[in-house]
Amino acid sequence: MNCCYCSKTISVHTDSGNYRKVAGWVKLRTKGANEVALAEDLFEYACRSCMARLKSGVPVGQEKLL
Ligand SMILES: [Zn+2]
Repeated sequence: MNCCYCSKTISVHTDSGNYRKVAGWVKLRTKGANEVALAEDLFEYACRSCMARLKSGVPVGQEKLL
């Protein structure tokens, strides 16, 4: 499969640190890590570098303009 942002090839078996998009339920809590229950695979993937940019608020695909 490929990163849905940069089209880089991702191997889910050999590459760790990449992301799989799921839909699911997150228990409401005031602190601590969110755990997704009953995760449903949406068959979308993102590589770790695109996800790092997304999480820091930089729109993926626009970093060339900076
Ligand atoms: Zn990517």
